[in-house]
Amino acid sequence: MTDASTAAARALLEAATTRGAIKRLAPALDGPDGEALRQAVWREGCRRGADLPEDAIGWPARRLLRRARGAMEEAVGRTTPTARDESFTCQHCGRAVPPAGRTARDHCPWCLRSIHLDVVPGDRAAGCGGVMHPVGLEIRGGTTVLRYRCARCGHAHRVRALVDVELPDDPRALRIVSAGGQP
Ligand SMILES: [Zn+2]
Ligand SMILES: [Zn+2]
Repeated sequence: MTDASTAAARALLEAATTRGAIKRLAPALDGPDGEALRQAVWREGCRRGADLPEDAIGWPARRLLRRARGAMEEAVGRTTPTARDESFTCQHCGRAVPPAGRTARDHCPWCLRSIHLDVVPGDRAAGCGGVMHPVGLEIRGGTTVLRYRCARCGHAHRVRALVDVELPDDPRALRIVSAGGQP
């Protein structure tokens, strides 16, 4: 194992942050230096706590990359919107967003943006990382619900607006979304 393949594996894992990036980067694992690179990716993934069985070295390249960077996504998750209630820096407006307190805060209370991380809330399995823009607002059974669309992949989902927490969603921003605009 050379230091060069370890460095290449690290660079690969740093860059493999989205489904598109993985698709673009995976062929390197099947290239001329593929075998050394696979071993380095496997070793680096294990070092970072990814769940990699020994036979993962022979997996299809995309699957190996996805699994190897799994542990890194957890680390990224700690500084981005999350179904766990944690502070994060908004990737759209740059403000430091504190936890909601009583419930999980998954979007910025000022600009209402979120990040496309989850398939199921909290699982970080989407592998997209695109900014989710608020594209609509509806009232369902007395609850204000925001509709979102991902700027990168187009994924749409709904999320409850946070109105009864310390530092609630900005009412002015909610009104703008309700009128079809972007805060
Ligand atoms: Zn924001
Ligand atoms: Zn997305």
